[in-house]
Amino acid sequence: MRLLFMGPQASGKGTQAKIISKKLEIPHISTGDLLRNVEGELKEEIDSYMNQGMLYPDEGMIRILKERFKEDDTDNGFILDGFPRNLKQAEMLDEITEIDKVVEIHVDEERTIQRILNRLNCPNCGALFNAVKHKPKVENICDDCGSGLIKRKDDTEEAIRKRLEIYERDTKPVLEHYKGRVVRVDGGIGIKNVTEAILEKLKV
Ligand code: AMP
Repeated sequence: MRLLFMGPQASGKGTQAKIISKKLEIPHISTGDLLRNVEGELKEEIDSYMNQGMLYPDEGMIRILKERFKEDDTDNGFILDGFPRNLKQAEMLDEITEIDKVVEIHVDEERTIQRILNRLNCPNCGALFNAVKHKPKVENICDDCGSGLIKRKDDTEEAIRKRLEIYERDTKPVLEHYKGRVVRVDGGIGIKNVTEAILEKLKV
């Protein structure tokens, strides 16, 4: 199954993409993670876009994504998280692969901002926690791999508002592009319930 997970920042799409990718045994491809993991001369340029909450240019992004698709683990499907962010990216994606279903997770804006401000990430294994609602067992230590948790540099209120503005303006219209393939899920009903709702709507 080739899936897209869409939703504003901190809608829980990253968390859900991880859970569902394990259940369906398909890789979770987060374009934010792909960019964060780039090493070498591009790193500084990428960081400057990310820290301001701005999108990395489409051509560069698609080049990085195409490289990822060359790996064999995508043969039976994937969950793409964070891509496409605009119509141009959706059209570029059409040229590389076909998408079966789009999962849209929606939450209201204020809830989203609070979630992001409390978000904690594991830089080693990618696990996500929340300092209020989904605390790690030991403060600031990842439950899964024991590494120290960090706050993302772009999780400031200013960068968050910028990213939400871009989502409303550029990303939401992408849902129209996938009309007929979109399933919509309420992201505010708790992690487990959201997972169940997604699986139910995907009929898997
Ligand atoms: P995310 O981890 O999805 O919240 O993405 C973090 C940041 O990575 C975004 O604010 C952008 O700067 C960059 N980014 C992630 N995905 C894309 C994309 N599809 N196109 C351009 N920039 C992206």
